Amino acid sequence: MKDHIETTTAWVCDKCDKALVSQKVKVRYLEGNFEVDLLKCPECNMVFIGEDLALGKILEVEKSLEDK
Ligand SMILES: [Zn+2]
Repeated sequence: MKDHIETTTAWVCDKCDKALVSQKVKVRYLEGNFEVDLLKCPECNMVFIGEDLALGKILEVEKSLEDK
């Protein structure tokens, strides 16, 4: 079960050649706003979202909402 981004993995922005930083980003989904940790380039502020990661996060959020 992945619950956070592996910070040991060296992700680098293709454009700037800068190491990406993990940062909390607000995401709007359905009726609410959520904060998720995403990798972001400190140079160009481009946010990198793995499609399966984003989907997994959203599904987790959705599931936790349904449980309540
Ligand atoms: Zn960049």
